[in-house]
Amino acid sequence: MPAYLDHAYLDNAATTPMRPEAVEAMLPYLTERFGNPSGSHAVSREAKKALEEARDVVAAALGASPGEVVFTGGGTEADNLAVIGAHRARPGTVVCSAVEHHAVLHATRAVGGRLAPVGADGVVDLDALAAMLDPDVSVVAVMLANNEVGTIQPIAGVAALARARAPEAVVVTDAVQAFPWLDVAALAGPADLVAVSAHKFGGPKGVGALVVRQGVQVAPIIHGGGQERDRRSGTYNVAGVVAMAAAMQATIAQRDDTVARVRRLRDRLADGLLARIDGAIETGERANRVAGNCHLTFDGIEAEALLVLLDGMGVYASAGSACTSGAVEPSHVLEAMGVSRARGLGALRLSLGPTTTDADIDLALDAVPTAVARLRDG
Ligand code: PLP
Repeated sequence: MPAYLDHAYLDNAATTPMRPEAVEAMLPYLTERFGNPSGSHAVSREAKKALEEARDVVAAALGASPGEVVFTGGGTEADNLAVIGAHRARPGTVVCSAVEHHAVLHATRAVGGRLAPVGADGVVDLDALAAMLDPDVSVVAVMLANNEVGTIQPIAGVAALARARAPEAVVVTDAVQAFPWLDVAALAGPADLVAVSAHKFGGPKGVGALVVRQGVQVAPIIHGGGQERDRRSGTYNVAGVVAMAAAMQATIAQRDDTVARVRRLRDRLADGLLARIDGAIETGERANRVAGNCHLTFDGIEAEALLVLLDGMGVYASAGSACTSGAVEPSHVLEAMGVSRARGLGALRLSLGPTTTDADIDLALDAVPTAVARLRDG
């Protein structure tokens, strides 16, 4: 990452800088080792070997066997293949949590699915979910960690409910935001389909994977040459896959240390902002969120204006709101958690990553209260 002296990149949930290990690993496959793994000559075989070695690494990182890994063009595609592919393989009702990323939420909507509510803490309401499950349900999708507020979901509990009440249902978990922070192999173990995206943990954009457990059926959503055992067609992004594997290895090797260090930074940031800004409220439960997520709401503030001021001060963050046809709306996540519209419009997500430093936190602790005060003073 460029060493910005007086800038703080606190938007790691949006994307992360690439890890040097990942850049180094991918370079040969962008240059001299350019082969298409689907061919049979030596140049292809070299690429195929790299692809399959990367598959072994990705499989181990996700607690899967190599044959269960389907490479995709990112997290959105992995989520769509999971929800729509499983629904096509076995039509029925699709149920997802109300706080899913749009990749799952809109895929669920596209097949006429239903939303399971969450509590004020952002955790899926297991009783309400149980009441929605019956043998006609074909897909149950609950993310492992939320992209806006960082809440960690009880996937083992969700899977146990699904097995009991909708025995034919495929359990999907979007682990895109979880991978940098959590042991996905263990926590997503009970799910049938597990989605990840490389750019959230120091890999390149536009590459991801879906674990499809042995025996689980997903119909392809992209048709063509039949790569990935007919589950996903398209020429392989060899360089991207190799870099994703390298980023996974580095992430896992450093994960315990990174989590401990970043959690300390995040706590200093959250506590500092809560102490310095009147009316600031932390969203959800800090104990049950990934280490890199700091999410606050402020009253009397419009997040879009706050982001502009922060940008000018060198603090790069994001809001929990979306601009649809010119109107700013609070996010569906905050709405599902019962956060009021006024507070939802004043939401700020500061997401830390492995490259975040104490200096970044110092800058944010100075800039955010200053910007909020400026907006409140009008
Ligand atoms: N799922 C979650 C939870 C995400 O945070 C994201 C990215 O923001 C995605 C899916 C989509 O991944 P990608 O950007 O690789 O399409």
